[in-house]
Amino acid sequence: MYRSILVPIDISESELTRQVIPYVQAHAVINIAKVHFLTVIPSHPYYSTLGLAYSAALPKLKDLQEEALSRLNEIVKAFKIPMEKVQTHAVTGTPKDQILKLADTIQADLIIIASHRPDMTTYLLGSNAAAVVRHAKCPVLVVR
Ligand code: ADP
Repeated sequence: MYRSILVPIDISESELTRQVIPYVQAHAVINIAKVHFLTVIPSHPYYSTLGLAYSAALPKLKDLQEEALSRLNEIVKAFKIPMEKVQTHAVTGTPKDQILKLADTIQADLIIIASHRPDMTTYLLGSNAAAVVRHAKCPVLVVR
C-alpha cells in the first residue's frame, strides 16, 4: 500500500497531465494515500522565454509562485481525488532536482510521471523524467 504518492505536473503541458490522470486515480482509489502534486517554476530559462531581460521587469517570485499554485489547484480538480487526500506544491528551481527533493521530504513511495512531451517523439524519456527514474529512491510509474 502506498502512503505518499508524488505527481509532478508541468502546468504548461495539459496533454501530459491528461495522460497521467487515470493512473493517479487508480492508485489513489486503491490505496489510502496522500497525493502530492508538484509544479516547478524553472528559475532562469522561464524568464528568458518571456523575454524579460531586465530584473525590473521580472515578476515577483512570490506572485509567480502564487499564480503557479492556483493554476495547479485548477488542474488538480480534473483528477477528482477527494480534497483531503490532496496536497499541492509550487516551488522554483530545476524540475528534476525539486521533484527528487520533495520525494524525499514527503517520503514518497511512488512517483507517477509522464515520459515526455508528445511532440518529442524521438525521446524515450524527457530530461526530467529520465533523471527522476535514475535517481528516485522509490518506484516510478512512467506513463507513455
Ligand atoms: P520533456 O523534455 O519532453 O518536456 P520532461 O522530462 O521535462 O519531458 O517531462 C516529463 C514529466 O516531467 C512531466 O510529465 C512532468 O511530470 C515532469 N515535469 C517536467 N517539467 C516539470 C515542471 N516544471 N514541474 C513539475 N513537473 C515537471
